[in-house]
Amino acid sequence: MLFSEQNFKRKKELIGSIEIICGSMFSGKTEELIRRLRRAQIAKLQVEIFKPKVDVRYDEKAIVSHNQNMIPSTPVDHSSSILLLSATTEVVGIDEAQFFDHELPHVCNQLADRGIRVVVAGLDMDFQGNPFGPMPALMSIAEHVTKVHAVCLQCGGPATYSYRTIANESTILLGETESYEPRCRTCFNNNQDTECFLSEELEGKKESHK
Ligand code: ZN
Repeated sequence: MLFSEQNFKRKKELIGSIEIICGSMFSGKTEELIRRLRRAQIAKLQVEIFKPKVDVRYDEKAIVSHNQNMIPSTPVDHSSSILLLSATTEVVGIDEAQFFDHELPHVCNQLADRGIRVVVAGLDMDFQGNPFGPMPALMSIAEHVTKVHAVCLQCGGPATYSYRTIANESTILLGETESYEPRCRTCFNNNQDTECFLSEELEGKKESHK
């Protein structure tokens, strides 16, 4: 795995950029986000971290990854609140970006144009395998996109899908450990065809693609 940190910012250089870390659940997105932000802190850069208020799985104020690495963050209602950050901020981290509104790409562009290094982590696909929230737009405008993979629990291959193991049609469903498992394309499709909880509409869409 090659991680792109070519433009790791040095002091006094005003070069902004957007980096995206995306993948399925359990792919290590948040670990990678935390790793990059810790390195920025070691470089004595001022780091601020934001996450959507909807993400309250473990801790109100901290970004928590599955291996319990923790880094303090500010929960915000709307992406525009991120623009109110302190003027001395040099690096901005954003976690669970898929849950933000569609203004987030615009906000990230504004930050990068100010010379800020913006590092964004988020799910690229929802449980139905569709592009998730503002992620596709963010990936388009970013300088660097890193797709991390989980391990398919069915076959052990690299997984890019988050397969929902319980019946629920809502796109936002928190409490991931018991509700999702990472799957590769083949294992995701094998079960998607037979599971009873899929809506008629999605079944219809799949038929029309054949
Ligand atoms: Zn598989």
